[in-house]
Amino acid sequence: MQADYHMHTVLCKHAEGDIAEYVEAARKKGIPEICFTDHVPAPDGYDAINRMTLDQFPAYKELVAKVRDSQNPAVLFGIEADYYEGCQDFLSKWLHQQKFDLVLGSVHFIGKWGFDGPDEMKTWAAVNVAEAWREYFKSVGKLADTGMYDVFGHLDLPKKFGFRPSDKQQKEMVQPALDRIAAAGMAIELNTSGLRRPVKEIYPSPLILQLAHEREIPITFGSDSHAPSQVGFNFSEALKLARDCGYTQCARFRQRGKTLVGL
Ligand code: ZN
Ligand code: FE
Ligand code: FE
Ligand code: ZN
Repeated sequence: MQADYHMHTVLCKHAEGDIAEYVEAARKKGIPEICFTDHVPAPDGYDAINRMTLDQFPAYKELVAKVRDSQNPAVLFGIEADYYEGCQDFLSKWLHQQKFDLVLGSVHFIGKWGFDGPDEMKTWAAVNVAEAWREYFKSVGKLADTGMYDVFGHLDLPKKFGFRPSDKQQKEMVQPALDRIAAAGMAIELNTSGLRRPVKEIYPSPLILQLAHEREIPITFGSDSHAPSQVGFNFSEALKLARDCGYTQCARFRQRGKTLVGL
């Protein structure tokens, strides 16, 4: 079984279950290592409904500390940190001050639009899809350029509701972003939560994962669990996807340092 490097806690206000239940679920499924990556606090008020406040961050540390003694699975301490225009004001200093094992970087907004919100299907049906994707992947490239993150989370998240441009258009916009991810030494995750969404597909798609493999960008696996039952969700399918795209190794992290292990 692969390590599960993407899961949340009740502090984000939209997840459920005691932290010990996530650990127990991983143990039962034979997952050797997990990393909690709850949504980062944002003192500037960005997307406040989906995250802990900065005042609650010590509570997050304590929550994870309660289960860190676990050997089976090993438990890592991470964060899912959003990239958006102006985020560096806080994150560039703050991320370094914490003892994270892994910083997952995500983009959840196109401009002011929280495009992956549960009720955004209607908006997707009305927008210029290629234009929205292009804007999104510009942000992906900017995220990589900051050098603040270790792993890119759910890389083709804009496909969540099934709206996506042609393969040709996707290649044009995705390849420059992947080049910058590679240049930053970042990994990308195979995020199985897409299988729980209308698109019913792992993030990223085979098309994009092949482009990542061509650039030798390492991979991690993540369930994006918001409930204990989702830990390790459909990892067999993610493993198959990785192998199909030519991967024989994946990345493990400790204190933000990466090592490669066989699949
Ligand atoms: Zn969440
Ligand atoms: Fe996310
Ligand atoms: Fe997440
Ligand atoms: Zn996520």
